[in-house]
Parts: sequence; C-alpha cells; structure tokens
Amino acid sequence: MDTHQKALVMKFGGTSVGTIPAMQQAVKIVCDTCRDWPRLIVVTSALSGVTDALTKSAVRAARGDLAPYFETAQMLSTRHHELANALVADLARRSQVHQEVDHLISDFSNLCQAIHVLGEASPRALDAVTGLGERLSVRVLAAAIESTSKHAQFVDSTQLIQTDDHFTNAAPDMTATIKRCREVLNPILQSGSIPVVTGFIGATSSGAPTTLGRGGSDYSASILAVALEADEVWIWTDVDGVMTADPRIVKEARTIPEISFREVAEMAYFGAKVLHPKSIHPVIESGIQLRVCNTFNPDHPGTRLVADRDSNGIGKVKAIAAIRGLQLVTVAGTGMMGVPGIAGRIFSAVASAGISVPLIIQSTSEQRVCFAVPGDRVEEVTYVLQTNFRDEFQRGDIDQVMTSEDVGVMTVICPGIHAIPGIAGQIFTTLGESSINILGITFGTSEISINLILNAQDLDPAVRSLHKLIPG
Ligand code: ADP
Ligand code: ASP
Ligand code: MG
Repeated sequence: MDTHQKALVMKFGGTSVGTIPAMQQAVKIVCDTCRDWPRLIVVTSALSGVTDALTKSAVRAARGDLAPYFETAQMLSTRHHELANALVADLARRSQVHQEVDHLISDFSNLCQAIHVLGEASPRALDAVTGLGERLSVRVLAAAIESTSKHAQFVDSTQLIQTDDHFTNAAPDMTATIKRCREVLNPILQSGSIPVVTGFIGATSSGAPTTLGRGGSDYSASILAVALEADEVWIWTDVDGVMTADPRIVKEARTIPEISFREVAEMAYFGAKVLHPKSIHPVIESGIQLRVCNTFNPDHPGTRLVADRDSNGIGKVKAIAAIRGLQLVTVAGTGMMGVPGIAGRIFSAVASAGISVPLIIQSTSEQRVCFAVPGDRVEEVTYVLQTNFRDEFQRGDIDQVMTSEDVGVMTVICPGIHAIPGIAGQIFTTLGESSINILGITFGTSEISINLILNAQDLDPAVRSLHKLIPG
C-alpha cells in the first residue's frame, strides 16, 4: 500500500461509544466505511461521562474524599467489562481486554491514592488520571472492530502527539508529531489494519502524559489528519451535524448542510460544543475536508465545512451559539487615561495567571477596560490585578476592579452583518420585544458575527427568540 492512497480520519465522541448499542453502531460504521477508504484511522473519546467522573475522583481525592474514586473505579469496571462481553466474541481476546481494563483501573487507583496522600491534584497528575478514559475505550473499541474480522490495533496517542508541558491544555509540537505519527501509524496501515487511536491525550518529549483540553478528541483527529495528509475528517457525534443552535436549547434547531470554516470556528469558540474550536484551523490550513455526522443517524448527510468564499446566506442570520459561566471584570480609574500600555499590562497580568480572556469589550474611553473571564477564575483575576497594579491603586490612578454577576455571551452568525444595514437593528428589536437587556456588544473579528453579553438567566430565552430570525 502506498501512503498516497486516500485517507480518512473518523472520530467517535463519548456518546457514540458510551453504551453497547452505540459502540455496536460505531463498529458498523467503521466496517461499512473501510471498504471505500484504504487508509482509515479511527479516533475515539472516552465513554460518555467517564472524563467527568475521572476528574471528580482526582479533585475530591485531593480534598481527602475517596468516595467518588471508589464509585468511579466500580463504574469503569462495570461499563468496560460489559462492553467487552457484548462486543468481543473471541474468548481469549475478550479476556485480554478484561486484563487490560483491570490494569488501567489499577493505575487509576494508584494515582488517586497518591493524590490523596499528597493532598494535591496538580495539572500534571490530573492529566495522568483524565487520560485514562480514552486509554480504556480504545482497547475495547479496537477489540470490538476485530471481532468483525477486520484487523484493528489500538494506539495510545502518547506515542503520537508530542506536546508542550502545559498540562490540561497542551499544544502539539507538529514537527515531532508528524514524524511520530508516520513512524507508528503508516506501518499499521500498510499491514491492512485500522489504527484505533485515543483522542484527547498526548505526551511531552520526556513522556509525561498530557491532555489537549476538554472536548479535545476532535483536535486529536485534526492533528492526525494533518500528520498523515488525510483527505477527510469525519466527526461522528450524537446530533445531525452542526445545527442552527444547540438542539438541547432550541428544539426547532436544524442542520446546517454547509458552513464555512470561519463561521463554524466562531460558533465553536462561542460555545457550540459540537466541534472543538482548535480542531478547525489545522484542517483548513491543509485543505482537508471536514464533516460532522450523527452516529445514530448515519444516512443523514450532516454538515460539510466549506471554504469561506463558498459561504452562503449573506445578510441572513445563520446560527446562534452561546458561551456560559463568565463574569465581567472592569478596571476603572480616571488616572488610566493617556497612560501608555495600560491595557497591555492588564491582559499580561491576567495571562500570567494562565487565565484566558474570551472577550474584550471595546470602550471609547481610556478610563475603563472591561473583559470577560471564566466565572470560576474571577477571584484570581482580581487578586492578580490588585497585586500588579499596587502602585496605581495607591496613587489613585486606578480606583477599582469591579466584577459582575454571572453572564454569558451569545454570538449571532450572520455573514455580511457589517455591510448590510438593518440586521443588527432586527436583532436588537427582537431582543427588546422579549424584554432582554443587553449588557454589552462586540462585533466578531471577521465580518460574520455579532456578540452580545447578557445576564446568565437571559441567555436561553435570547437564543430561542433570535432563532426565529433564521430563515426556514
Ligand atoms: P461528542 O461527545 O460526540 O464529542 P459533544 O457533547 O462534545 O459530543 O458535542 C455534541 C453536542 O454539542 C450535541 O449533543 C449538542 O447538544 C451540542 N451542541 C451545541 N451547540 C450545537 C450546535 N450548534 N449544533 C450541534 N450540536 C450542538
Ligand atoms: N473525553 C474528553 C472530554 O470529555 C475528550 C473528548 O471527549 O473530546 O473532554
Ligand atoms: Mg466533543
């Protein structure tokens, strides 16, 4: 087999492998697809709920509470053993899977005990624990595929994706990753086998396990696709593709058959969990096709990502996404006016605490700088600012750092919004008619969206009322 034969990376999310019928369906999709794709690489998430349970076990063990860890160890054992019993026909192979599962659960025990003794779940320790979910699922899925008499081989992506040591949110070193992926995966593909690779995880150059951030299995799929020069990536999830809004919030949400990279990137960044925001850029750069489809409705075409120039629906609201759990921080002071570099210093101080700022609110006055941060980091932000600007506070140049109640940001995707009069007016009128108060507004960086800051409790009603503007 030459490495120029067409290649497809398929990623299954947690719900797509989380139960016996779901994993059966995923296996069927793999078997049906591999006939058409001589080089097929499968990436899988942990079973649904597992990463949350692992995280909770580690965090609570650090606080002296081992109960979640006991419960999780039991749950991991039951679910993975049941899947193996149902989906792995060959008894010797099944017993091997059982052993591998038990071995990983015993690693989990050791890690939680160590965290308990130390009284601390460092980001490094957390990554060692949370990555176990994918290491478990990949073993069961590979054996289940093999049971259909296709050849499959599980691969821990600690061998493939080399990252920096930014534990819990690591970034890949693409040069090293490309080399490793080719060295490890090409021989597997050449032997006619399907590599079944863990999503979400990587390792530093010295081998310490890392993770790519929550929801990061989509990102793993893009990284592997780039490394292997794949033609396409298909993200298999539990809904019919990228929809006009989160279907859990808007029951009338519809599939968007084609969406541009920029549009979907904006939606993903602003909370549309269906695609991890970092998974989009690498595939655009490499001209790789990306599709999002439904494991439980595989005949539905789902959503195809298209080049930005092929975007349609100019001048119309196309989709709405919302990000929750934020608070606004306002730094205010009359002495801030005209001081060069003040905004730069504020954001450097926040960045130095490892806190990301999803949104900055433009202000015409230099007397206040306002930005959103994750609500659970707001105390740290206040502390960091007070420490870094002690002199300015003392001199009275900065009067206060104010924090808001819980807010959310809704992004309305509407190609051409900057150029076509009337759309923004329509959005504000609709929200006004629903008595929804807008706390702040920013335009997206590309001319396709407007972002509205709203009180947390207004977010869902606002999404539902604006959804009515999307042409049917
Ligand atoms: P997976 O485990 O397959 O990665 P996720 O839970 O990460 O799945 O993402 C799929 C979920 O994303 C859907 O079940 C849906 O509730 C949510 N979602 C949010 N916004 C959207 C949207 N605009 N289109 C589709 N799904 C969305
Ligand atoms: N299992 C990981 C998570 O729940 C990664 C993923 O599912 O994409 O965040
Ligand atoms: Mg996901």
